Amino acid sequence: MIELEHSQPEPPELRRFRGKKPNTPWNDLPHPVKDVIHKALDIEQENLCVYCETEINRKSCHLEHLQPQSIYPHLRFRYNNLAQSCNSPNHCGRKKGSQQIPVLPEPGCNNLFFLSGTDGKLEPNADLAQGQKDNVAKTIEILNLNSPDIARQRQQYITTVMGLGIDDDNFLSDQPFRHILQTIL
Ligand SMILES: [Zn+2]
Repeated sequence: MIELEHSQPEPPELRRFRGKKPNTPWNDLPHPVKDVIHKALDIEQENLCVYCETEINRKSCHLEHLQPQSIYPHLRFRYNNLAQSCNSPNHCGRKKGSQQIPVLPEPGCNNLFFLSGTDGKLEPNADLAQGQKDNVAKTIEILNLNSPDIARQRQQYITTVMGLGIDDDNFLSDQPFRHILQTIL
């Protein structure tokens, strides 16, 4: 997952809208406001899905509530609770729906995951306590991060980069699957 920091300032358009209409349904948020949120998140996520790290563009992604608004309605218009997810119906935000994931895409989250074998699948890091392993496994399941297409892309990308012999941190800094790559290169 992307270790999202929300280091960009909260867009003032979002803050103003929240101040005026905090209880508005999400879908009624005006498109110009959504646009500025996307622009801020583009910088933070470098055009990668926050969950599966595959490339996204404006047409192939949506704004995602990290904590579901059905449980946390007060976080509906909070920049810190928003991210960009790919639109695949089989994994990530569309698959998650209104479920809550135990492991959020935040700094340090990738230390909890481990790349198993050579099939591109993720599993909980073996060093974790059982409770943490269960949380990681549940997160993988809810987001379907080991769906065949994602696992295949992950493995192909990693094999390609390893084949090129690239282990430059500057190159890796904005690449998909960078955290896994940094642990195995
Ligand atoms: Zn995704």
